[in-house]
Amino acid sequence: MTPRVIVIGLDCLSPDLVFERYAGDLPTFRSLMEAGCWGKLRSVDPPVTIPAWSCMLSGCTPSELGLYGFRHRKLGSYTEHYLADSRHVRRPRVWDYLVERGFSVGLVGVPQTWPVPSLRGFVVGDAPDATQGLTFPPGLADEIRRVVGEYRPDVTGFRSADPSDVLADIEAVTAQKFALFQHLLTSRGGDFLMMVDMGPDRIHHRFFRYCDPSHRLHGQVAGLADPVRRYYQRLDAHLARTLALVPPEAHLLVVSDHGARSLQGGFCVNDWLISQGLLTLKNPARAPRPFDESLVDWERTRAWAWGGYHGRIFVNLQGREPQGQVPASELGTFLERLSSDLSSIAGPDGTPMGNRVIRLVDPKGGVLPQGDYPDLMVYFGDLSWRALGSVGHEGWYTEGNDTGPDDANHDPMGVMIYRGPEVRSPGLSILDVAPAILRWFGVERGA
Ligand SMILES: [Zn+2]
Repeated sequence: MTPRVIVIGLDCLSPDLVFERYAGDLPTFRSLMEAGCWGKLRSVDPPVTIPAWSCMLSGCTPSELGLYGFRHRKLGSYTEHYLADSRHVRRPRVWDYLVERGFSVGLVGVPQTWPVPSLRGFVVGDAPDATQGLTFPPGLADEIRRVVGEYRPDVTGFRSADPSDVLADIEAVTAQKFALFQHLLTSRGGDFLMMVDMGPDRIHHRFFRYCDPSHRLHGQVAGLADPVRRYYQRLDAHLARTLALVPPEAHLLVVSDHGARSLQGGFCVNDWLISQGLLTLKNPARAPRPFDESLVDWERTRAWAWGGYHGRIFVNLQGREPQGQVPASELGTFLERLSSDLSSIAGPDGTPMGNRVIRLVDPKGGVLPQGDYPDLMVYFGDLSWRALGSVGHEGWYTEGNDTGPDDANHDPMGVMIYRGPEVRSPGLSILDVAPAILRWFGVERGA
């Protein structure tokens, strides 16, 4: 079957690197850009893999999907946490509309496609640890093994293992993903075909100091070859081999869910909340240790946080949390004050960090966010600092990350390159992508 739309998703692919720094080294990307249109694609808030890909493919915001990261806390519970997989995406994504209209689809490695759905076509799910049930139809697993050997959806241990092993591993997983997609493109085909590879994200988090001269650790790698550049050149070659199989009349999109930027360090958000008298632990942490809710003295706590690329702050709200301390009538003023205090935090050099605070519930009323939303999301240094949830640090700032080395954080601007029969650009917001794909099939969203 001749594919009508092909989407190549490269998680975290950076527009600054593709369009500028490495532009002269990427002939395939360049030829696509020259033949079509391209630009920076604005991600959602938060610009993280989950929910960003599902937002791109559903046209829904995180608040509409009720997804705010990979891990979630059940609202009103201190102990109930879950990871958001395919079962937690409760709005249709493009393939749901297409299959309903009789089109066939093929998905390889698209985030939040595990457990794999049954549909007209094929799916290779995205669970890095699943050894069973990774494909639909189940028999596809044997074909994959025959063609590319033992399939690995993602690299594990990319923060901790030896750098040269990590680099080889990331390159091998990316090469396998492209080889598999190329095989399925010709062996099975489909009207809508999409792959996502996590490689660029893994490369940036581990090796960004090599490619950004302004990175605080760049000096340590002077004189060494840039593994990020080499990785992008290899991506370019994989793309060239894939394009050779794409019919010239097909709509082709190369997209990323967000970009990357240098990481300055970590901000210990729970230690900061403790210093403000908003969070109290049953026993003060004397040395750095991971945070979990069992450490908290809830009767003396008004707010606590989770770390990650962005910080998520939860209010211990009366009537919602079991031992809530902030009366519902005071929530608005409490969040306003907390947002203002978070926004004005100074960095280690005494100048403002430039923190951005996002409140998901509209203070003027309006539609409540879906699902288990945090009360605030915080971008420390506008995402040039990571939020650290762990407690017991000496100060609020750390050079490193508490979950292993990390060179990069996410940037809200990703990549969009389109080549195809349409003259106009599909749009430069991640939320424009699903409507454009459906338009190319003549399918109305919501139909
Ligand atoms: Zn991502």
